[in-house]
Amino acid sequence: MNADDVREALERARKAQPAWAQRSVGERAKFVQRALAILIERQDRIVEIVMRESGKPASEALMIDVFAACDAMTYWSKHAPRILRPERKRLHGMLRFMKKLEIVYRPLGVVGVISPWNGPVILSLNPTVQALLAGNTVLLKPSEVTPFSGQIVGDLFSAAGLPEGVLTVLTGDGETGAALVAAGVDKISFTGSVATGRRVAVACAERLIPCTLELGGKDPMIVCADADLDAAAGGAVAGGFLNTGQYCCGTERVYVMEEVADLFTEKVVARARALRQADVGEFDVGAMFWPRQLEIVERHVEEAKARGAQVLVGGRRNPALKGLYYEPTVMSGVSDDMALMREETFGPVLPIVRVRDVEEAIARANDTSYGLGANVWTRDTKRGREIALRIDSGSVCINDMTMTYGATEAPFGGRKDSGVGQVNGSLGPRGYAYAQPILTDRFGGRQAAKHYPYSREKDEGMKKFIRFLFGSPLARWLS
Ligand code: NAD
Repeated sequence: MNADDVREALERARKAQPAWAQRSVGERAKFVQRALAILIERQDRIVEIVMRESGKPASEALMIDVFAACDAMTYWSKHAPRILRPERKRLHGMLRFMKKLEIVYRPLGVVGVISPWNGPVILSLNPTVQALLAGNTVLLKPSEVTPFSGQIVGDLFSAAGLPEGVLTVLTGDGETGAALVAAGVDKISFTGSVATGRRVAVACAERLIPCTLELGGKDPMIVCADADLDAAAGGAVAGGFLNTGQYCCGTERVYVMEEVADLFTEKVVARARALRQADVGEFDVGAMFWPRQLEIVERHVEEAKARGAQVLVGGRRNPALKGLYYEPTVMSGVSDDMALMREETFGPVLPIVRVRDVEEAIARANDTSYGLGANVWTRDTKRGREIALRIDSGSVCINDMTMTYGATEAPFGGRKDSGVGQVNGSLGPRGYAYAQPILTDRFGGRQAAKHYPYSREKDEGMKKFIRFLFGSPLARWLS
């Protein structure tokens, strides 16, 4: 779709928005529930589309796209009415006797959602649902390389009877995305790479519209000496190879304490070796999404090998399969200045680094331009929490791979280059609204009538009042 198509869609979305905003959040939630019922009915077809577009195993299409979508729709349709309900707030100090405050969450207008290919249904659907529930109409621009998965979201809602213009799916590439940002929408919710996110942020800044940016990551995993090593090895393999490593919160660097490093590595290698990679039937690890991503993986692994890193398992395209299959790979002997340790690999490669102690692990985990997720493995969860508090990332999981996005109550976002703003949690739907305070005078505005004229006498009175109010224990009590 070109810029004209985008503008036309925006016009339709603008026209549809006031009537959509007139409905209560509960009424809007009914459409979400209807779409959910249709999604459940159509899950086989959806899994098939996602598999065919992305090459992932059925279990991952089910887990990442279908289950997560059902869960998000259920959660938001149940909780958005509470999250978006007008709130009465008691004012502080003297103001409390004079004014009443209510905060209402009003829709922004038309929201543009731009999504990537790696979780093509869930990353299109989740922001769309939250924006719709907040009373916005939505223009969704899914990735050009997973257009059918993006269209699923539009189809579900049109089958659920969503009124014309409330949700439109725009198909097209970056040009369509750029046209959407430029068209005059009221907010952009972007999920994708750091480079594109930066361009989107600049374009939004020029138009003075808000955006949330959910960008790439280089998640560290810290394995303490007291960790359950079987669990940690399982977590490393799942974190590294889920979605063929093409997961924004995938584990991309493992820091393990020296004293358990050999045993942990042995367990990881055994598990990685047992993974089944195939293109049909039952398998654990699918294809790389496209040549572009496979080339990045090969560049990172080859550079690391050339500079002395060891491949413990994998480290090559799968010779038994035609197509974009890269074997689940575990490496050791890597150094922090390798591309494999600095840039987002977004592939099935798990570099394991031995560290002296937790201090070294934290320092190296933080030595990155990214800050999306992190995970810490220890039997002492109190200590795990202390470590979590020292990691500069959007979220931290203790004794699990990073899966905060699925914990809908948790605000999700990245620090440093991994993003701006947060989604999910109560900030999620509220992020698609503006909090409008309505302040009402308790005395019908009589005070305003006495505002002028100013005089020295009034100023002296004011000074005394300030001393009385803020310089005494009464002040502390009042505020
Ligand atoms: P991408 O940045 O190439 O594309 C994302 C979307 O932006 C696509 O729909 C694309 O068409 C659109 N786009 C491209 N140029 C644009 C422009 N100038 N203006 C507006 N839109 C434009 O990302 P990708 O390759 O599809 O996705 C992979 C990346 O996404 C990885 O870096 C991954 O870590 C990240 N990601 C982040 C999260 C998160 O929640 N933080 C989740 C999933 C993926």
